[in-house]
Amino acid sequence: MELVRGHSAEINTTAVDACRCGLPTQPPEGGSWWRPDLDADPGPRVRAVVRYGDKPELRRVVRLENNSGWAERGAMVDFYSDRTPPIFWAGVGRCWANTAHPVVAVRESGSGTWDISA
Ligand SMILES: [Zn+2]
Repeated sequence: MELVRGHSAEINTTAVDACRCGLPTQPPEGGSWWRPDLDADPGPRVRAVVRYGDKPELRRVVRLENNSGWAERGAMVDFYSDRTPPIFWAGVGRCWANTAHPVVAVRESGSGTWDISA
């Protein structure tokens, strides 16, 4: 990503608060969250996460069997899911704009809906 230099501090602050993908880059104020590029994998108790601000029905990242990594699932990604290679935990928070986002755990509540489980 190219850095744009020479702008005021105000513009730079705005750029920090929201990513080009539309999601916040700041973690939630309460509950559990992780920065996968900085924090260790929380372990098997967390089976699925979303980038904070994302909708789990549309795009979530689920833990694969046998500790083989993570994969994106959801209405926005299912079409490609069978051809997308697994991603490592450290890349789970990274969006298409190559920004590392905080993630929160989600849990399926039945009938295809998902809740933030933190
Ligand atoms: Zn982003």
